Amino acid sequence: MAANKKLLILPGDGIGPEVMRQVRRVIDWMDRRRSVTFDVQEGLVGGSAIDQHGVPLSDETMADAMGVDAVLLGAVGGPKWDQMSFDKRPEAGLLRLRKEMELFANLRPALVFDALVDASTLKPDIVRGLDLMIVRELTGGVYFGEPRGIEDLANGERRGVNTQVYTTSEIRRVARVAFELARKRSRKVHSVEKANVMESGLLWRQEVTKLHQEEYSDVELQHMYADNCAMQLIKAPKQFDVIVTDNLFGDMLSDEAAMMTGSLGMLPSASLGAETGGKRRALYEPVHGSAPDIAGRDLANPIATLLSFAMMLRYSFDMHEDAGTIERAIENVLNGGMRTADIMGPGMARCSTGVMGDSILRELDKLSA
Ligand code: NAD
Repeated sequence: MAANKKLLILPGDGIGPEVMRQVRRVIDWMDRRRSVTFDVQEGLVGGSAIDQHGVPLSDETMADAMGVDAVLLGAVGGPKWDQMSFDKRPEAGLLRLRKEMELFANLRPALVFDALVDASTLKPDIVRGLDLMIVRELTGGVYFGEPRGIEDLANGERRGVNTQVYTTSEIRRVARVAFELARKRSRKVHSVEKANVMESGLLWRQEVTKLHQEEYSDVELQHMYADNCAMQLIKAPKQFDVIVTDNLFGDMLSDEAAMMTGSLGMLPSASLGAETGGKRRALYEPVHGSAPDIAGRDLANPIATLLSFAMMLRYSFDMHEDAGTIERAIENVLNGGMRTADIMGPGMARCSTGVMGDSILRELDKLSA
């Protein structure tokens, strides 16, 4: 039996616990097969942690996150906590995890399953076979830069300030992740910034170019302005393989790429930190939020979270075969016509979160028989 894999599960708020339940079923299924055992801890984050501990992430849970091999998170937030100040809100728990685990690279694949090609708002021939990866810088840039704040001016106006800032090492480490990924894919990287109007963008372009020349000349590198990239993603998304960009542009471009796949409910993500002692800190989570509009109704699509778990198997545990089996099981269920409401199409069978989980487990049984 393989050694224990230590993981921390943080279901969070809204649909988080509902979709995570389906992951627990897959983990139990894997445990039963005895190919691997998971040492699973569970904790609170976001609104549920505020309700229980008064803070969106307790020090104990933070320490747990630092001690495990990987963290899997559902989603945080909801109207109940919307009036709180930014530093006390559910999202602050997630930002603390990202910051203290030094998760500087956010990987968001946009993969269009053949069975869902019609769910995209783009024409089928534009998105069929789409498989791209956006690598977003996650711990720097304008979301963290100082000075920041809202101040009262003498003339009675107010002024809001945020600062876009990047250093050489911040740029190089995230670009390195992109180049390494590209080597395992189609050896093509698009580096995206606004070097035409922002100094931080110019530095980004210079540093990525330098690293490329020094270590990754076997990978094709193209530079693109962020606004053009937004257009190109809609026009011809299959020209891209790996896109690397900063925190702000990555936030937007990855949501745009998300929509090509039809539903937020299908999108996984991984956030990776530095490698120390052969171990890389990592947090896996679906791209979607806590979806308060459908929470508690067994309607949520669990596939984004299951695919995030599959990414965890791949990137944290090198369990490529098991990850592939889960992905194949999901694909087979979709090919069989099973759909949660968010990806429903004509002639398909509408199902609940739980029934989608049942179907995927049945498919896993078949695939491993
Ligand atoms: P959202 O992603 O929660 O929902 C957007 C829309 O997509 C909703 O109509 C929702 O029903 C639908 N949707 C999302 N996930 C789905 C799934 N798995 N299955 C079916 N439908 C799904 O975004 P929002 O409505 O802007 O935000 C709601 C709350 O979530 C807010 O409090 C926000 O701050 C928070 N949020 C959290 C995260 C996170 O935890 N990483 C990310 C985004 C938003």
